[in-house]
Formats: sequence, C-alpha cells, structure tokens
Amino acid sequence: MGTMSYTVAVRALCEFTAKAGDLDLRFTPSPTAQEGIAGHATVAGRRGTGYQREVVLAGEYKHLKVRGRADGYDPAKNRLEEVKTFRGDLARLPDNHRALHWAQVKIYGALLCRERELEQVELALVYFDIVKQKETVLKESHEAAQLFEFFAHHCEIFLQWADRELAHRDERDRTLSGLTFPHQDFRPGQRVLAESVFQSASTGRPLLAQAPTGIGKTVGTLFPLLKAAPAKKLDKIFFLSAKTPGRKLALDAVRTLMEKQPDTPLRTLELIAREKSCEHPDKACHGESCPLAQGFYDRLPAARAAAANHAMLDRQRLRELALEHNVCPYYLSQEMARWSDLVVGDYNYYFDLSALLYGLTTENQWRVAVLADEAHNLVDRARGMYSAELDQLTFRALKRQAPAPLKSAFERLNRQWNALNKETDAAAGPDAAYRVHDQPPAAFLLALQNAIAAITDHLAEQPAVLNSDLNRFYFDALHFNRIAELFDDDAFIVDSVPLTPARGRPGSRLCLRNVVPAAPLAARFDSAHSTTLFSATLSPPGYYADLLGLPDNTAWVDVPSPFRAEQLEVRIQQRISTRYRDRQASLAPITALIADQFQQRPGNYLAFFSSYDYLERALAMLRDQHPHLPVWAQQRRMDEAARQDFLDRFQESGQGIGFAVLGGAFSEGIDLPGQRLIGAFVATLGLPQINPVNEQFKQRLGALFGDGYDYTYLYPGLRKVVQAAGRVIRTGDDQGVVHLIDDRFARPQVRALLPAWWRLGGG
Ligand code: SF4
Repeated sequence: MGTMSYTVAVRALCEFTAKAGDLDLRFTPSPTAQEGIAGHATVAGRRGTGYQREVVLAGEYKHLKVRGRADGYDPAKNRLEEVKTFRGDLARLPDNHRALHWAQVKIYGALLCRERELEQVELALVYFDIVKQKETVLKESHEAAQLFEFFAHHCEIFLQWADRELAHRDERDRTLSGLTFPHQDFRPGQRVLAESVFQSASTGRPLLAQAPTGIGKTVGTLFPLLKAAPAKKLDKIFFLSAKTPGRKLALDAVRTLMEKQPDTPLRTLELIAREKSCEHPDKACHGESCPLAQGFYDRLPAARAAAANHAMLDRQRLRELALEHNVCPYYLSQEMARWSDLVVGDYNYYFDLSALLYGLTTENQWRVAVLADEAHNLVDRARGMYSAELDQLTFRALKRQAPAPLKSAFERLNRQWNALNKETDAAAGPDAAYRVHDQPPAAFLLALQNAIAAITDHLAEQPAVLNSDLNRFYFDALHFNRIAELFDDDAFIVDSVPLTPARGRPGSRLCLRNVVPAAPLAARFDSAHSTTLFSATLSPPGYYADLLGLPDNTAWVDVPSPFRAEQLEVRIQQRISTRYRDRQASLAPITALIADQFQQRPGNYLAFFSSYDYLERALAMLRDQHPHLPVWAQQRRMDEAARQDFLDRFQESGQGIGFAVLGGAFSEGIDLPGQRLIGAFVATLGLPQINPVNEQFKQRLGALFGDGYDYTYLYPGLRKVVQAAGRVIRTGDDQGVVHLIDDRFARPQVRALLPAWWRLGGG
C-alpha cells in the first residue's frame, strides 16, 4: 500500500476529524444556494483590490493529499478568510459548528502557509448575515508552525481511517476483478444489456437502454458495473429506483451476485427517507429534543467503524447498528453514503435539488456510475422535484394559529397573496379557473422570503417537530423560493387556480411548474462518470433525451425481447372508439368483447380503463349483462393490504377479470407469470386528460421541440399502454392475448410506438 495515496477534500477531512457533540439542525437549512453565492460575492466586493477569491489550495501529509478552495485571501493584510452566510441569531450557532469552521480555516491556513512560504497568517471567520447584510468577523493570528502541527494532527487522525479505506479499496477491486457471473449463462438479451452498460462505463458515454421484462435487468446492469469498477477506477455505483420494490430487487441482485464470492468486501447501503427511518417522529433533530441526536458526533466514529465492517447495510441492519451505538439511523445512513461502494436509493438522492449523493459526488470529486431503473418514470419524477406549490387556504389556517412573532410576516404574505389574486382576477376575469403568469410574482416572493426569515428565527428558538404544520409550510416555502431561483422562461410555467372555501375569503394555489427538467438533470449526468437509464419502455428515445437533458453523445440500445411473437396475440379493436365523446357507446362492445374472450378461453384477465369513472361504468354493464363472470376491481386509495388482496385473486387455477386503472398501481411493476394472467384489455390510448395545465405543456413543448401533442399526450399515453400490456407475458413459457381497444391503435404512428416483437392483428 506504500505507494497508494488517498485524496480528501478539506471539508470532508474536517467533518471527519473535527465534528463533536450534538447533531443540530436548528441553524440549518441555512440560506438558499443563491443567497449564499450572493452573500459571498457581497463580502468579496467589499474587499480591496488585490483580494483573491476562491483560492485553490492543496498539500500533502505522508500519503494523504488534501485539497480545497478557501473563500478569500487578502495579501495586503495577509489575511485568509472563510465566509459563512447565515440568517437569524449568530449567538445561536452551536459551538461545535463554530469549532468545525475554525478547523477548516486553520487547515486552509496551513496549506496556504506551506504553498506561499509564509511565516504566519491571520485567519478570519466571516459570518455574513444575509438579511442585515452585516459581517461579524472573528480573527486569530497563527504562526505557520502552529498551523502545520494542527494540520498534521488532523491528518494523522484521518489517516488511520484512510489507510483502512485504502486497504478496503484494494481488496474490493481485487475481488471485483475476479467477479464471475452468478448464473450458468446470460439470459437472452441480458448479455446485450450487460455489454452496453460495460461499454458505457468504459467510454463514459451515457446510455439509454430499452430492455424488456424477463431478461434480468437488475443483475444485467449491476454485474458489468461491478466488473468495470476496478479498471475504470469507479469510486461508487448508485442504483436509483423510482419505487421501493426496485430497491428491494437491487439488494436481492447484490446478494445473488455475491453468493459465489461471499468474502467480497463490497459495501452496499440502502438509503431510506427520513420519515421512514426516524426513531422519534415526535421529536426534532437536535440534542435537546432527540436522544439519538444528543452526542451524535461523539458516538459516530464507533458506529461508523462498526458499520464499515458490514458488507450489506440494508434498512434493518443499519437500524440495528444505529440503535446499538445510540445514534440516529437516518443520519448514520447519510454518513455511510460516504463510505459505501454501492448505494441503493430513490431517484431523489441523486436527482433532486439538494440531493445528498450528487452533493457528495461533486464535493469529493468521486467517479461514480449511476444506474436509473424504470427510467421512464424519471420525466415525471424530476418534474415533481423541480416544481413547487403553495396553497393559500392551508397557509391561512396556519396563520390563524401562528405564534406572535410570526404574525406580522404572515399578515404581509397574505396581503401580497390577496393582491396577486386581485390582479390575476382582473386580467383573467373572475370566472377563469386557471391562470397563467409570465413570471414568478416578485412582490409575493419578497413577502415569502420575509416570512421564511421570520420562521427561521422563530424555529431557532422553538424548534418544531418534523411533521408539524409550521415545519411543513416552512419547507414548502423554502422549496418554493429555491425553485423560483431556478426559474427560467422555457422550462417552467407559473400558474394559479382560485380556491373557494366554504366560508371566508377566496384564495389561490400558486404553482411553479417544471415542464422540462433537462437543465438540472444535465448537470447531474455531467457529474457522473457514466449513467445508464433503463426501462422496458423508453420509446421514442428522442423524447427522453430531450426532456431529461441527455447529452448528444448518449448511446441508445434497444435490447430485443426474449419472447416470441407466437406467445402473444395482439388484437386491435378497430371498430370501437374510446374517445371521450364515444365512451357511452363503447361500453356495450367492450363488455361483449370481454365476455367473448373469457368464454373462448377462461382464465385470469386484467381490463384497463383510463379512469375510475370509465372503469365503473364498464364494470356495471358487465355485471349486469354477464352476472356469472367473476370480476373484481381496483378502488381509489387502496392500502398495501388491499392491493395485495387484488393481486392474490390471480391464482394459477383461478378465473376472472380484474378491472384496473391504466397508469395505476396494477399497470406497472407487477408480475403475474404463467396462468396467473393470460390476457389484458386496454381501453383507450392512455392519453393524459385534456385540461388547461396539459394544454400549457403542449404549447410549451411544441415551441421547444416541435411535437407538442406527441410529447404531452401521445408518448406518455402509449407508454402506459405498453406497460399495462406488458403484464401478460412474463416468461418464455407464457401465452396470452392483448386487446387494444380503439381504432387509433391501427394508425402507423401509433403502431410504431408498440414493441417490435408484437405481431398485430385486427379484432
Ligand atoms: S431519530 Fe428522528 S428526530 Fe431523532 S435525529 Fe433522527 S430523524 Fe431526527
């Protein structure tokens, strides 16, 4: 190991060696990113000429390389500055935070003295209040020798860990190079997928992979990356999924991959949301409230060292370890994200606005490979991450119970909100149920920022529990403000809908709606060494590339289906129209079709409709005309047990028709192989409803990409159809039938969006 070196960022080094005491989130969330940047610029602008901003510094101690960027250096005063922006009362900054800040500036000081051969330097911590625009400067003079000693001390502590990490990495890479495929052979299609992923890891080109069900996608994507990790010097692999079952599949795949080589020291971590991993939901995340936050950093080193000995840190194991060491499981998992090789979590950990894994990747300059499973979901999920809305009626209810210090800021916000409603009413006419604004409203935003500042101050004194109304509004308001900062004319729509309460004054719901998440996502793809987005339905690829902001050099692979055309009979029911105006007339032929099919081949079927209303009407008619047919139906808001009951009705030897909603819980991600499902009926093309929001999307997407209708309605709709129909054939032995009910399915443009291996026939 003698020649191996370890590189660490100053911030990461100090967080490791200089953090002690309680976990305390009261001083965070600190100002928004833009406020932080603006604050730094203001401070720098106040300095004289010759002031150097963002001084890049690096140095070595033994085989440890330390690098970072100090905020500013004034050669005239020989003063090195570290700027921290904040809001609220500086006196409330916890001591351990301040100690951490001093440690950082001292390490920078040591690096600066070494690089510029200085005998001594003045170190300054500049706390900049972004509301009052006021600086509080703490200064200390240090001899270089003193700083070198400080530096050496911290490096020594860290090296004990770093050496262990280097040994781990060495062993990890050695065993991964010899990793063998866990099964006899690749399944059909799986090899194509695995090779494409390997290629992407080699070239660094992003990959969009359409890969059908039944080929073993999870193992097919993880295996090549693990195999490529040593040669490509990958620090981490992130496996991101849209839903919980995807995470479970990934963890199972890792267990399978490691079966033959159980000694592979691959650290796998499952990341869980705070709401789901919090042990004290009635408490706040600081030492005076939560026992697992109190002294967190004092106990963290032992917990971290213990956790690093476990290859599989799934939810349960992590919880056990956390409780054994008396630390918060959620924050322990955040810590372990730094020291894991493979992290399995929701999309939001890499893609959202304040994504942990993305932040760590850029801060530590990790080389990461990102896998996004079921990636067709990423468009809508990302739109959600980059959209924000605020509801005035909810806000007013909060305002009525607001503590005294918040009253005036809340009143002001409410007044601005009313003024905005009045303005839009006048422009749109009071009856307009949907209004579009050109820009995020400036006066409203100012009042909102003012309210945020007031809540920040208030919460610093009286922290609220995580799920209180005030906290919820606070996070919504912060999020709204951050999205407003990201706002750009092309990618967003600002709209509002009037809200009329049973009693009292009308209000509105104001929304910053992301239409094209390409820009923020592109930054995230850019930070990864390689990205693979995979799903059974990614057609047409151009649509995903445009909306997700994939770079031009993105590779595309359409993995052939392992299934044979003979396995699936696809019948287009051209004589039926499911257009909105024809729905009533479509009920009789649809029920006749279902009954006929069932009579010809009794067994289990799914019948998909585009809405509950349509579903219920068809179900009522079927029950009426064919009372002997066994039927069961999806209900609104089914809990997990009810959903399981629905699925349990599909027995190998069973018979009947399950009615479900297209695009709902039973049209994706469920697996009913063999006789459990032998056919499906899909009524409608799944087109999203025509409504003012979608019409705005159509206009905007049309202006940007030319295909407004297809991008808004056709592609998302057909994707739902293909996903739903995809439930029928799950293995090489399955046989089944799919009825596509609508004349428009016969159109060449629509047929082109259906899987190539389907052989289409008329009904
Ligand atoms: S256990 Fe819950 S309240 Fe306590 S620190 Fe963790 S997340 Fe916060």
